[in-house]
Amino acid sequence: MKENRIQWANKPNSWSVSRRTLMNRCPRAWILKYGFAKKQGGFNRHLQNISDWSSPWRIMQRTLRGVVIDRLDAFSANRTWIENDVLSKIRNRIVGALLRQKAVLDVIETRSGKTSSLRKKISDKEIDRLAEICCKRYESIFIRSPFREILQGKITRWFTFSRLNKTKIDDFYLHISPDIVWYSGQTCHLLRFTVQGIANPGEDRRLENMSMVLWAMNQQSFPATAERYIVENLYWNRGRWNLRSERCNKRLVSDSKSMILNDLSAMSDLYNRLGPACDLSQIPLAKNKRHCLNCGHRDNCPGGEDLERASLIQSALEMAKSSVKRI
Ligand code: SF4
Repeated sequence: MKENRIQWANKPNSWSVSRRTLMNRCPRAWILKYGFAKKQGGFNRHLQNISDWSSPWRIMQRTLRGVVIDRLDAFSANRTWIENDVLSKIRNRIVGALLRQKAVLDVIETRSGKTSSLRKKISDKEIDRLAEICCKRYESIFIRSPFREILQGKITRWFTFSRLNKTKIDDFYLHISPDIVWYSGQTCHLLRFTVQGIANPGEDRRLENMSMVLWAMNQQSFPATAERYIVENLYWNRGRWNLRSERCNKRLVSDSKSMILNDLSAMSDLYNRLGPACDLSQIPLAKNKRHCLNCGHRDNCPGGEDLERASLIQSALEMAKSSVKRI
């Protein structure tokens, strides 16, 4: 990596569920994505694009999310929406995203001087298959609550929000908005939908979801009492959409905030480990080789070649370093 062309970002001061997930999966991938300044042009831009590289399956999932939000926005704005066009709309999006990624592969190959292991020929048949899977999931979400009731006009007070919205809490910018908010009587529902979820997500995921209440209570137009919120997560798992709902309370909001502040402190520690010399060798690699398979950095990262071996070498180097410090 040509370090002299890299510009560092400021210390991490923003948090989102996706940042948290990436940091937990692979600290090195996290630092490569967020540790550098977002700058148009130069290698920083390429680094961003490489970090954003996604497998065709991931592109299909992102497309699904985009089309669902578009459908809701069209309904809200009373714009014409032709259901028969959805499959071709989805296919075009997938093809467009795959084409845009070709330029990223060219950059990777120019730098490494060899064919990228990420380069795979995707047949038309495979694209059709992904588009059909996406379309099926799209259709089945609109027969689920609350999407069905929204389109039927039974839920009248509802709003969509972008996850890119930032909200300032203490000195930090948090991307914690829900996808959809709606009211039933005095209760305010905050929902995120997840294109791939797990049935038993554990306490951390529960607190991640509760961060939506932190967001809502920070807006002027939503209730100021935690108990008036129901937090919902609609996720795809085992061939169907599943809904998880939980009434919020003060304690959950406070625990969620503490979890976020702990994460930001861990992000800061990680960032500091690089030091001015931009020493990536200090940054831990992925916890599981599964994460390397679809990582844009796998051609240039020791973990991408042989994660087990690279992790052993890294811990040996760390031990050697700490014993030199002690002498
Ligand atoms: S190739 Fe593996 S270890 Fe390297 S940055 Fe990607 S996920 Fe992390």
